[in-house]
Amino acid sequence: MALIVRSSDIHAAGCYTTGNIRKGAMVVEYTGPRISKEHADEIYEGRATTYLFGLRDGREVIDGHGVAMFINHSCDPNCETDEIDDRVWVIAIRDIKAGEELTYDYMLYDGAENDPAPCYCGSKKCRGTMYSPEEIRRQRRLKNKNGAA
Ligand SMILES: [Zn+2]
Repeated sequence: MALIVRSSDIHAAGCYTTGNIRKGAMVVEYTGPRISKEHADEIYEGRATTYLFGLRDGREVIDGHGVAMFINHSCDPNCETDEIDDRVWVIAIRDIKAGEELTYDYMLYDGAENDPAPCYCGSKKCRGTMYSPEEIRRQRRLKNKNGAA
């Protein structure tokens, strides 16, 4: 089994598997240097596309360097991510067939104002945005508060 990067219907490029993957398999590690969120904001300010993975502690991000950074978001994904012994793994949550595009749910948080982070995953369960359900609620609350003021 190998992973390849090629053009995707979801977003510019995506990550595909050339072989079958079993549910539960650790597919690939999200690799790259770890930098502080503040530093990432500095170096990528104004950049439309970044390949940052927010770590659980909320202070550091991985500046993607490897095939995993090309895995697109889906609201109905075939993978999930987990931090195990300080490493981030992409894990299959169902059996995946050769040729399928790998996806996981980005569950974005910390939304920037005026950035709707639109989702084009095309699944029936699509939220229309890559933000997590919690973040969607947070933004809605903020909006209502500002509207009332
Ligand atoms: Zn979607």
